[in-house]
Amino acid sequence: MKIGFIGLGNMGAPMAANLAAAGHDVVGFDVAGTTAKGVRVACDIAAAVDGADVVTSMLPNGAILRQVGEQAIPHMTPGALFMDCSTVDVDSARDVAKAAENAGLLSVDAPVSGGIGGASAGTLTFMAGGSADAFAKAAPLFDIMGQKAVHCGDAGAGQAAKICNNMILGATMIATCEAFALADKLSLDRQKMFDVVSTSSGYSWTMNAYCPAPGVGPSSPADNDYTPGFAAELMLKDLGLSQQAARSADADTPMGALALALYKQFVENEDGLGKDFSAMLPRFEKRGAN
Ligand code: NAD
Repeated sequence: MKIGFIGLGNMGAPMAANLAAAGHDVVGFDVAGTTAKGVRVACDIAAAVDGADVVTSMLPNGAILRQVGEQAIPHMTPGALFMDCSTVDVDSARDVAKAAENAGLLSVDAPVSGGIGGASAGTLTFMAGGSADAFAKAAPLFDIMGQKAVHCGDAGAGQAAKICNNMILGATMIATCEAFALADKLSLDRQKMFDVVSTSSGYSWTMNAYCPAPGVGPSSPADNDYTPGFAAELMLKDLGLSQQAARSADADTPMGALALALYKQFVENEDGLGKDFSAMLPRFEKRGAN
């Protein structure tokens, strides 16, 4: 296939390189002038998408996705697929899907989980929203860039799945960290706390697979001085998107709202910027009840 790839950043560059390594003809464009292994670089978006069977994008946010969509869609061939893999707000994903559909294109929103390591290794998980035809056309590319793809529903359903998952993740990480900080103050040994909770009803991915306490549980960013991993500022972005979606859909999400407020405080006013999102534990350790 001929593939246009817009946004060759930390995630996009290794994803595009994996598509090229699998034998596809990949033409990339990034405003920062970045490139990727095996990828031909175009001078602008129109040139990158011209004649492409599939256009993939991996961009910072919904406003930029809307701009890129406006520039790309008029130059794409009817019947081609527009596949956005960025994490963006549900409304932007739906609006760009509508514009693509109006131009006779297939479209799919397909945000990922798995991070930069998963992007390089080709082991991402894709959560996709769009028609069955669009998903079918994207599936061989999901197989190259990832290990699993779930068709979640119509346009926007991929973004909805991503932000709901990450809202649970953020709130659960905070709950796990504050429980460890309470355990410390109750003189409960952290290892004993892990042994009990990881096999009891308080278990979770944040406790069992990504334990925020150094030296406890499987290896995690806590064992590497909270070097990300999944940075606190990326969690802040995703919690912001979940609250934007909650307002737009009139949903009551108080735990998500509190998780957003705590990560905002941590990243903007404390020392959370650049740390893994599990560094909430040392934050709680330093604090008292008031
Ligand atoms: P990044 O900032 O490294 O890459 C984004 C790229 O888009 C940059 O290189 C930027 O120059 C380019 N860009 C911006 N505007 C553009 C335009 N108009 N035309 C062409 N290129 C443009 O970010 P990233 O870490 O690669 O993340 C990309 C997306 O993936 C984000 O939506 C992020 O939330 C999501 N995501 C990231 C991770 C992660 O661990 N980094 C994990 C899951 C999802």
